[in-house]
Amino acid sequence: MNGYADASTYPVWHDSATQVPSFGPAPAHAEVDVAIVGGGLSGLWAAFYLSAAQPTLRIAILEARHVGFGASGRNGGWCSGFLPLSLSELAATHGRDTALLAYHESFATLSEIEQVLRRESIECGWHQGGTVQSATTSLQAQRLQNYLAQQQAAGLSLDDMQWIPSSEVSKHISVAKTFGAVYSPHCATVNPFQLVNGLARVVHQRGVTIWQDTAVQAIDDGVVSHAHGRVIAKHVVQATEGYSHSIAQTKRRIVPLYSLMVATEPLDQATLQSIGWHNRATFNDGGQMVIYAQLTPDGRIAFGGRGAPYHFASRVRERFDLDDDTHRRIVAAIAQHFPAAAHARITHRWGGPLAVPRDWTPTVTIDRVRKYSRLGGYVGDGVAATNLFARTLVDLLLERQTSLTQLPFVNHRSPRWEPEPLRFLGVNSLIALSESIDNYEATHGKAPRMRTKIFEALL
Ligand SMILES: Cc1cc2nc3c(=O)[nH]c(=O)nc-3n(C[C@H](O)[C@H](O)[C@H](O)COP(=O)(O)OP(=O)(O)OC[C@H]3O[C@@H](n4cnc5c(N)ncnc54)[C@H](O)[C@@H]3O)c2cc1C
Repeated sequence: MNGYADASTYPVWHDSATQVPSFGPAPAHAEVDVAIVGGGLSGLWAAFYLSAAQPTLRIAILEARHVGFGASGRNGGWCSGFLPLSLSELAATHGRDTALLAYHESFATLSEIEQVLRRESIECGWHQGGTVQSATTSLQAQRLQNYLAQQQAAGLSLDDMQWIPSSEVSKHISVAKTFGAVYSPHCATVNPFQLVNGLARVVHQRGVTIWQDTAVQAIDDGVVSHAHGRVIAKHVVQATEGYSHSIAQTKRRIVPLYSLMVATEPLDQATLQSIGWHNRATFNDGGQMVIYAQLTPDGRIAFGGRGAPYHFASRVRERFDLDDDTHRRIVAAIAQHFPAAAHARITHRWGGPLAVPRDWTPTVTIDRVRKYSRLGGYVGDGVAATNLFARTLVDLLLERQTSLTQLPFVNHRSPRWEPEPLRFLGVNSLIALSESIDNYEATHGKAPRMRTKIFEALL
């Protein structure tokens, strides 16, 4: 496998973004009806639905850097109907009906997004090819089959998710080694940077103000203090996801976990044929350490993985986007699963923080008295969820009673993460354990019992 010495260190998605709107910073003083902090998909979808429902509202987005600077402009482009908590996990905590409502709404979100893209002429390469989670070892196959049985017992149908025997996985994609796979149609792919810029264009045309290079320092009862002034708002929405630790209301509410990615050059026809990625379903495996891949419309493999270190005190810095060990592991994973692509040049590598709440449960929270609400905590499943949670937020703000306002995430309060240094030790132990469990399983064909127990206890 080629290295990545010459790779560009920004998301591959930026190269195909032709219409990147640019906006100036906030003035020293401004008054609006709704101020949205964060110009990612959460903030933009919130502005999109709010401006559609009440066109006369004065809405402003305050973004520290530029629209799509955060995870929304640099993710793996999986627009997945699956939530960070499985249906069976949700059913265990909130009951079967509530869990099914959440999954029904989440699956339906894909059609909602597709319709908006069509209606608003947002070109971002939308393609719903489903998703394949392949078992690389027999242990992974057992685990995935147990998982599938749990989801089906909780109410998912064969149309939502089904087992594909190893002999049939190649109908979707040819991976070097598979013991079978779970297939679901509830996943599409997008170019996330095009999506975020397209949305910014649409909301701006509708009259939403977007201020870039405007880092918010504090939110107090409708007063948003930023680097060069204040915005007074009747209501403030915080949509800062992996960067939330620096805002008082969300201190220790999430941990920023880094996910890193690489992209290959466009593969030649012979390589593409040998991988046989027929309908461009997204791909991952059943390991403890998360990996994820998509085949882009121009024939590149965009491949990501977690496992980069957590940084003390939830620090987020641009230099953390690049981690040689993690990028090397991702490049090796491409060669492992797709040997035909082992010699493809790596043209881009990058990374960014996603947000993990202590109980892995995202939230949309509203506090009318403090004129404040927030949405987020999607872990690695935010591309579709930002749309679902933004629509939920708008229903709550407008005091509509809808099925969305009955979702289990409404006003959910996750416990705070532990103070340092416990947080540092706990999160980095989890990361190290998941890698070591995968390695042990691959070598010994069985799970390391003690490590698995500690891993489950730490989760
Ligand atoms: C590498 C990577 C790969 C991923 N892959 C996938 C995937 O394939 N599928 C999927 O579903 N999810 C994926 N995710 C997660 C997904 O991208 C996020 O959950 C989603 O984009 C969150 O959107 P958001 O708008 O809430 O947050 P963000 O996109 O992070 O936006 C937050 C914005 O707030 C701004 N901001 C922060 N603090 C302040 C402040 N104080 N003042 C003003 N502005 C501020 C930031 O600059 C940023 O632009 C991935 C994440 C990463 C990092």
